[in-house]
Amino acid sequence: MLVPVMQSDYHIHTFLCGHASGKPEDYVATAVQKGITEICFTDHAPAPCGYDPENRMTIVSFPEYRKIVSSLQKDSPVNILYGIEADFYDGCMDFLPAWLNEQDFDIVLGSVHYIDKWGFDDPRKRSIWSSVDITETWRKYFKLTQQMAETGLYDVVSHLDLPKKFGHRPPETDIMEMAEPALKKIAEAGMSIELNSSGLRRPVKEIYPSLLLLKMARSLDITICFGSDSHEPCDIGYCFDESLSLAKEAGFTHYARYAKRTKIMTPLP
Ligand code: ZN
Ligand code: FE
Ligand code: FE
Ligand code: ZN
Repeated sequence: MLVPVMQSDYHIHTFLCGHASGKPEDYVATAVQKGITEICFTDHAPAPCGYDPENRMTIVSFPEYRKIVSSLQKDSPVNILYGIEADFYDGCMDFLPAWLNEQDFDIVLGSVHYIDKWGFDDPRKRSIWSSVDITETWRKYFKLTQQMAETGLYDVVSHLDLPKKFGHRPPETDIMEMAEPALKKIAEAGMSIELNSSGLRRPVKEIYPSLLLLKMARSLDITICFGSDSHEPCDIGYCFDESLSLAKEAGFTHYARYAKRTKIMTPLP
């Protein structure tokens, strides 16, 4: 059943990841309040190999996550989807393909949060930025993003230009040159990219990704969707008016909704 929606919020965390707050039902309540008629919980996927344990639910708490979302879906005033934010990391192919296949997700977000062993968007590791070559770091990031798209495991690329979080950014010509191969693979894989408004809450004060990258994506016929990356209930639908105008400025007329990992194109409000 497809209910009419305005802008779906497809990037929402829960307390199970260890760094988000509030009750899951309060995220739903905020959605109702703000007139967001469809949301997707996408908490950080477990990684039994021990990758980045501070930022994710454990494999033991995963069944609780399923239960929480299922129970919220019953008689919900908004359409609630069941998703996951799954990182692309060294060793993820030993776990993710089989594990994802066993789940009944509506959406799988794909994220790169690490370059080599460095959690480059972690505020506690921020000082490392002053000792690295910014352009080379971004180049590595886009190579990883390209590899992520090549796995075919994910539906959506989260926060496509996350390395800008603290304001470190190469010249535009370099960004275009290094992003292009990744964007081509994203297009080939039929993935969407997310307009993630959490960047506006970070030092960079910008939506992920930039207008430049969105225009490149548009020219490759890549689809988009919207996310707030909420880690507390009040952030549901955060600055979605700005995400919407950015999407339109980049030339988009539609956005992607999902159900059981199938894309449904919907006109922008
Ligand atoms: Zn998080
Ligand atoms: Fe993320
Ligand atoms: Fe997230
Ligand atoms: Zn995220």
